[in-house]
Amino acid sequence: MTLEEIREAAFARDHADILATYRDRFHIPRHTDGTEVAYLCGNSLGLAPRAARESVEQELQAWATMGVEGHFKPVRPWVSYHELFSEHLAKLVGARPYEVVAMNTLTVNLHLMLTSFYRPQSQRFKVLVGHTAFPSDRYAIASQIALRGYTPEEAIVVARPRPGEYTLRTTDIIELIDRHHSELYLVLMDAVNYYTGEFIDIESITTTARQHGILAGFDLAHAAGNVPLTLHDWDVDFAVWCHYKYLNGGPGCVAGCFVHERHGFARVPLPRLAGWWGHDKHSRFAMGPDFEPTPGVEGWQLSNPPLFSLAALLPSLQLFSEVGMDYLRAKSEMLTGFFDRALRELLPQSIEILTPLEPARRGCQLSIRVKHNAKQTFAALIANGVICDWREPDVIRLAPVPLYNRFADIVRCVEVLACQK
Ligand SMILES: *Cc1c(COP(=O)(O)O)cnc(C)c1O
Repeated sequence: MTLEEIREAAFARDHADILATYRDRFHIPRHTDGTEVAYLCGNSLGLAPRAARESVEQELQAWATMGVEGHFKPVRPWVSYHELFSEHLAKLVGARPYEVVAMNTLTVNLHLMLTSFYRPQSQRFKVLVGHTAFPSDRYAIASQIALRGYTPEEAIVVARPRPGEYTLRTTDIIELIDRHHSELYLVLMDAVNYYTGEFIDIESITTTARQHGILAGFDLAHAAGNVPLTLHDWDVDFAVWCHYKYLNGGPGCVAGCFVHERHGFARVPLPRLAGWWGHDKHSRFAMGPDFEPTPGVEGWQLSNPPLFSLAALLPSLQLFSEVGMDYLRAKSEMLTGFFDRALRELLPQSIEILTPLEPARRGCQLSIRVKHNAKQTFAALIANGVICDWREPDVIRLAPVPLYNRFADIVRCVEVLACQK
C-alpha cells in the first residue's frame, strides 16, 4: 500500500465505523496549530468524557446543599455510591457483581490482595512474575516477600521470552509453572504487558496453576476496557486494575479489584487488612469493636471512597456498558490491524513491532522499536500532534483506542513516521 492508498482506506473505514459518534462524547485535546491531536496515549491516561464534569458537579451540588446528609439523602446516596459500579465492572472483567469493587488505587489493592493471598509456609513460597513487569508491581511483590522473611532473589521466578524474542510463549510459562510447582505459591502477572502490549493466556495459566494448588492473580491495568476478560469462568483467584488508562476515570482515579466468589464467600473469611468500609454493611454503623467482613470483595474495602473520583468515573463506565466490549473489541482489532499493516508495508526496514501480530495475543497497543534516531522520531511525532509515549531505550508505544480514535489518527501517525526514513 502507498501512503495515498492508506489515506483512502482510512477515510472509508472511518465513514463506515458504527462507533464513530462516540468520539463526540470525549474532549479531544488540541495541537498548537488548532487541530485535534491524534491521541494514541489512552493506554497511559484516557481522555476526559464530556459527561464527567456534570457527574462531579452533581455531587458537589449535593455536598453544597445537603452537607452530611448527602450520605443518605440524594438520588445516589454516597453511602452506597460504590454499588453503582458493580454491574458495569462485572461486565468489563467477566465477573459476578459481588466479585468486583471500585476502591483505593491499584498498588494499594495489590498490597491488600497479596496480604490475603500470599501467605507462604515453608517450602512453597515462590512467586512467578513476568519479565518487564511494571515497576510498582515489582516493588509491591518484593516488599511483601521481604515482609514474610524471604528475599526477592530466592522467592521470585521470572518468566522470560526466548533469546531473540520479545514476548512470552504460553507453553513456556506453563512449563515453568510445572517445573517449579512444588515451590510456587503464587503466579502474579500483567494480563497485558505495559511494555510490549502482549495479552497473555490467562485461562491456560490459571488452569495450570490451579492443577498444582498454586494461586493465580493478575494485574489488569492495561487489560480492563481493552481486551475481553472472563475472570469468573477462568477461575482467577484475584485481580486488580486502575481506571485512568482505558477506562477514562481521570488521573489517580479510584481503582478496581476482583476476588473470586470461592474466596469472597469462604466459610472462614480470609485474613486481611481491615477497615470499617469492609465491615458487614448491615452493622457497619453499629460501630462495634470487632471486624466482621461484608461477604464478597466489598469486604476488602478500607475507607469510605473518594466520591468525586467515583463520580468522574461513572459516565465512562456507563459508556462501556452502553457499547459493550464485543463491539469495542471488534473495532479495536480493525484499528490495530490496520495500523500494524500500514507500518509493516510502509516502514519494513526502519521499525520493528514488538507486540504480537495475532489479534488474540494483543490489545490495542503497538510497541515499536525504532532502529535509527529513535528519540528524534518520537520528538517529531509529538511536534506534529501525535500523542504517544516513549519507553527506554528505543521504544514508542502507540495505542489506538476504539472509543475515541479514528483511522485518520493512524494515518497522521504513519505520515510522520514515513517522513523520518
Ligand atoms: C499503570 C500501572 C500501575 C500504576 O499503579 P498506580 O498504583 O495506579 O499508580 C501499576 N501496575 C501496572 C501494571 C500498570 O500498568
